[in-house]
Amino acid sequence: MRFSALSIILNGLSGNTNWSAHWRRPEPKPDYDVVIVGGGGHGLATAYYLAKIYGVQNIAVLEKAYVGSGNVGRNTTIIRSNYMLSENNPFYELSMKLWEGLEQDFNFNAMVSQRGVLNLFHSDAQRDSYTRRGNAMRLHGVDADLLDRRAVQSLYPFLDFANARFPIQGGLLQRRGGTVRHDAVAWGYARGANGYSVDIIQNCEVTSIRTSNGKAIGVETTRGYIGCGKLALAAAGNSSRVAAMAGLKLPLESHVLQAFVSEGLKPFINGVVTFGAGHFYVSQSDKGGLVFGGDLDGYNSYAQRGNLATVEHVAEAGKAMIPALSRLRVLRSWGGIMDMSMDGSPIIDRGHLDNLYLNAGWCYGGFKATPASGYCFAHLIAKNEPHETARAFRLDRFRRGYIIDEKGQGAQPNLH
Ligand SMILES: Cc1cc2nc3c(=O)[nH]c(=O)nc-3n(C[C@H](O)[C@H](O)[C@H](O)COP(=O)(O)OP(=O)(O)OC[C@H]3O[C@@H](n4cnc5c(N)ncnc54)[C@H](O)[C@@H]3O)c2cc1C
Repeated sequence: MRFSALSIILNGLSGNTNWSAHWRRPEPKPDYDVVIVGGGGHGLATAYYLAKIYGVQNIAVLEKAYVGSGNVGRNTTIIRSNYMLSENNPFYELSMKLWEGLEQDFNFNAMVSQRGVLNLFHSDAQRDSYTRRGNAMRLHGVDADLLDRRAVQSLYPFLDFANARFPIQGGLLQRRGGTVRHDAVAWGYARGANGYSVDIIQNCEVTSIRTSNGKAIGVETTRGYIGCGKLALAAAGNSSRVAAMAGLKLPLESHVLQAFVSEGLKPFINGVVTFGAGHFYVSQSDKGGLVFGGDLDGYNSYAQRGNLATVEHVAEAGKAMIPALSRLRVLRSWGGIMDMSMDGSPIIDRGHLDNLYLNAGWCYGGFKATPASGYCFAHLIAKNEPHETARAFRLDRFRRGYIIDEKGQGAQPNLH
């Protein structure tokens, strides 16, 4: 089933009763060439590219709940490639380029919207550091514009330019940044992978990993034992738990991050705006709700919900940036589990077993990285060597001291 203008019209005329399911619901087979643990954005994208680009035919994605139940369906939908370090920037730019062609590629409307991401700065020092980042982006061939206060004012007149504590001096704008409908990304990749005969097995939790002679030979699951030629872990917030099943301790912490959606408003915020004097980011969904978030809850947890102290903190930062938010009602909020690495950058690498592959450490940047992560992880699994843009995301960098500290926060995951 392909989507096209014609198929939509024809199905509309026949009462929309002839659409087929986007993916099958197969019973697990006894074994697969590649088993991917985690049916989030990264696991599904990996399966899609593995089948599509590398022609691997016998792949299963094992998901403990349902597709989209993890962070891929819980994030604040922001995409950007405004990274500074040369280990990160080309990778996130690869992701941006894949976003730009994704809907045509997997023939699914993921509502990719390049409406611009603006990072506000509030001091001379912050302006200098944003200028440096913008210059680094441009040197990598990525778009970046430094806006002065007046230019920001003409884009977003309702920001608090009179704020005495946090005066807005300007902002760094990446026009190609924006938003993507998060769960549609999971559905699009699942549908695309299904089109290449990948088995997406939901309600199938991996409970242990069987090894023999330095290899992973299969996984015990809530739906029985499944053998594997290669085992790829893409369990995001649960990466440490799943890796521990193979005897591997990862340098990760799992933290709660909350997201919020307000009541619907008339069009108000055209792009994504982030506060530079606190942690607050906001955009407006096509339904009219403001979608926003802030800092982590600041403690380790596997619960997909957060606490009121952080709600208050996020609301404070939001009101300092846009005073009119004080009259806004929040409609809903939720939490997700982020697997924060010790330098805030991800891990895409081989594990300690011969046929074990790791995709983990996705912090705030995990959603925007989805296409490139899947693309590079598929390359690693198929070829047993890293993709050139993901070469730096080695697991042993923490032991060797080659950390990729994009935010300059040091080894404090709660700050990344
Ligand atoms: C509130 C919030 C806002 C965010 N906002 C942004 C943003 O604006 N931009 C951005 O770039 N990033 C953002 N992120 C980060 C981003 O969402 C994540 O880093 C990214 O989605 C993680 O990758 P994933 O999609 O594969 O994760 P997930 O969707 O969590 O996928 C992992 C899957 O593994 C499954 N799993 C776990 N254990 C097992 C097991 N034992 N057996 C089988 N399956 C298992 C889980 O059920 C889950 O479905 C945000 C995160 C949160 C929580």
